[in-house]
Amino acid sequence: MESLGNALKSIYHTLSRTCNIVDCCSGVRSCNQFVFPCIRCCSYGNRRVFYNYDGTETVQPLVDYFKPSNKVAKMNLVKGMSLPKERLRIGLTAVEQIAEVVRYAHENDLRLRAVGSGASWSKLTNVRDILIDMRDLTRIVRASPQNTDGSIYHIEVQGGKILHDFVREIDSKYGMSLPCMGNYAGQTIAGIISTSTHGTGQDYPTMSNFVIEVHMVVARGIQIKVRLPKNGEAEEDFESVTRRVEAAKFGDPPLEIQSTEVFRAVAVGFGSLGVIYSVTLECIPVFNIAETRQYIDIEWPEKSEEFRIPEELRALSKGHGKFFSFFVNPFPRGGDEKNENGNRTLKAVYLSGEKTLETGTCQCNMCMDMQCFTCTGCRGQSACQIVQTDCSASCFQMITRFMPCSLAYFADCGLQQFARGKIYIQRWYNVLTFTNGNIHVKTAEYCVPLSNLDGALRDILKIMQQYGEMFGSYTLLPVYVRMVKADDLYLSPANRNRMDGSTSDRFCFIEVPFLPGAYGIDEFHKKIEDHLYANYKARPHWSKNNFLNHKRVQQLYPELEKWKQIYLLFNRDGTFDNEFTRKCGFEDFHPTDDETVDDHRWRGEHGKCCSCERLDSGANTGGADVNVECGAQSRIDDRDSGSNLSSNGGSRTVEAVVEDVRAELWVKRDSGRHVSPCSCDDSTLRIPMGKSGAIVQQPTRSSLPPLFVERTPLAADMREVVESAARHGCGAESQQGSDTYPHPLPTVKSTLV
Ligand SMILES: Cc1cc2nc3c(=O)[nH]c(=O)nc-3n(C[C@H](O)[C@H](O)[C@H](O)COP(=O)(O)OP(=O)(O)OC[C@H]3O[C@@H](n4cnc5c(N)ncnc54)[C@H](O)[C@@H]3O)c2cc1C
Repeated sequence: MESLGNALKSIYHTLSRTCNIVDCCSGVRSCNQFVFPCIRCCSYGNRRVFYNYDGTETVQPLVDYFKPSNKVAKMNLVKGMSLPKERLRIGLTAVEQIAEVVRYAHENDLRLRAVGSGASWSKLTNVRDILIDMRDLTRIVRASPQNTDGSIYHIEVQGGKILHDFVREIDSKYGMSLPCMGNYAGQTIAGIISTSTHGTGQDYPTMSNFVIEVHMVVARGIQIKVRLPKNGEAEEDFESVTRRVEAAKFGDPPLEIQSTEVFRAVAVGFGSLGVIYSVTLECIPVFNIAETRQYIDIEWPEKSEEFRIPEELRALSKGHGKFFSFFVNPFPRGGDEKNENGNRTLKAVYLSGEKTLETGTCQCNMCMDMQCFTCTGCRGQSACQIVQTDCSASCFQMITRFMPCSLAYFADCGLQQFARGKIYIQRWYNVLTFTNGNIHVKTAEYCVPLSNLDGALRDILKIMQQYGEMFGSYTLLPVYVRMVKADDLYLSPANRNRMDGSTSDRFCFIEVPFLPGAYGIDEFHKKIEDHLYANYKARPHWSKNNFLNHKRVQQLYPELEKWKQIYLLFNRDGTFDNEFTRKCGFEDFHPTDDETVDDHRWRGEHGKCCSCERLDSGANTGGADVNVECGAQSRIDDRDSGSNLSSNGGSRTVEAVVEDVRAELWVKRDSGRHVSPCSCDDSTLRIPMGKSGAIVQQPTRSSLPPLFVERTPLAADMREVVESAARHGCGAESQQGSDTYPHPLPTVKSTLV
């Protein structure tokens, strides 16, 4: 009987996978998606490629693609490495393999990054030289009960373990669980905590908060174990941590660090602080959840300013311990369908879960593994994997292209199917996850204080409707709202501290997902992000589609400076930097080799101090100045380029012109790093630079102008310009936080004075 069940399962899974292949062949998806499953297996010129979740981001590391393993390694690990014979004879354990590769990267000035299953966007997994794929490190290292009744366990697990496997294993072996999780479980444990992945429920913070210890390899291949001190335990101060990390030698036993300050930084580190080898999670006894899914109407007033989420939802969202979330179709049905107040309605489904002692309505493997709808205890048609495929999704998306008027109808039908009359009772992880990641979505998510939910949701819905009307750009997927408890992790989107000094105890995440094939997804997400930033200082999800840059990160995270200290300590030589850290301006934190900058002021009419914090702290100026001025419009002159400046030595001044919009001017320093000297508005800037040629050409790269100069009026061009700037070793990025999009890039002129 069991073997028949397994056979059925495997046919079923093959069938659902086949649906995706058929979809690709029929070419209904966008071009990138079209070739995706086929190119996933390919490698170009023997260089392995890492794809993110939907194949829209690919990484081809220049040096090597390395997969540490639990087998003892007795060979050189990456191209070019040459370990002593004695070392190879003894062999390297998994964590030693990682440490060796990090040391190798450090010694050869290479960039390196660890990745999980690639369930992220926003260039997080991008890396230049060496990519470390952690997915073979899947062991549970240690599980220790913390009290006599065994109701709390500390479980250490290797960073590459997939969440789906982890929660099942700790349930079957120890009867343990995590407090909550997101709606998908295909990520790795280290990936989840690195980006502050969240589930839903007002009493549950993001999953990074379930961690109590992180074992990681930081710059120079030094191993550290950062532990969150328990109540009453001693705290190590940061000076002492710095001293010990700097004095540590390669090959020393892991440095034990017990510091809340350090922990709050590494718990959300994006892989930019080091490679996480293992994570210790605090686990609680396994539980069941009884879930209700209700299909409801939400009134969409003629004057959208009057929009409020219904009291029913508000009450549920405040309920203690509820796993509460809701979906809403942004498009009201047209025609005469109005409620008694004369307003149109939006269809929504809320999901509300409560812990329960009752057992599952159905425990059979068919229901759990296949998520079909063959018996009364199952979850319903919408959970069926054969329904949840790119094929079905993109067919629907295509229909809406041809018949936009049918869109609201289709989305409502989807929601109706998703709602379920019966209460569904199952293990917590079977309830909280409702996608196996079969459908590839491009999604963005914004975190705002719960008190801003009405306003932020209203604005998103309004923008979605306007966008649909103006550009025919619709998504079939509903907007998804989840609740999260605030935390103290420095770069968690749910960090309780706000820039204006206020605090918030509860946050909500509002997700705006698109199916592949929808038009203008990036432009659309940017429009929403800009608006929510300007009006609510919304923090975008780090790993979803976002347009964060340094200025924004600074404006959103009041504790960025504290994170920066730990970033500079653990990523001292920039080993873990990548395009994401560059985009967010973290690379600028590194002091340049022969100089640091202490003074950064507005010059000219403004005469006030610049708010740009990354250049302000007390170090040496060390020499000549570069002045950047506003006003003119021509391309940068070759005479002003890096080589001239570097050969001059001594006093140098560069004038640059920035017009109209806030802009970042990227300067290439002789350390090889790109330094963004300032963000400015129509102003003259004073940027102190180092003595020994602050702007020079790197010998290994071809002609790098010190300031990238371009002028373009179009959004599409803007990306091209930024990419082109990056290719030239410089950058230029629009910073304006308004919703006037597209907007022009600044014109910059630089002159040697
Ligand atoms: C279908 C789907 C559903 C999702 N649902 C949710 C949700 O419900 N809630 C939510 O908050 N998010 C959700 N996400 C986002 C997802 O949880 C995060 O993007 C998560 O970081 C992905 O984990 P990963 O293992 O795939 O990591 P990757 O995408 O591979 O990497 C993400 C980041 O983690 C770093 N990293 C990974 N492993 C290591 C390591 N060992 N050491 C150091 N750094 C490391 C990488 O450098 C990178 O910066 C979803 C994503 C998808 C595709």
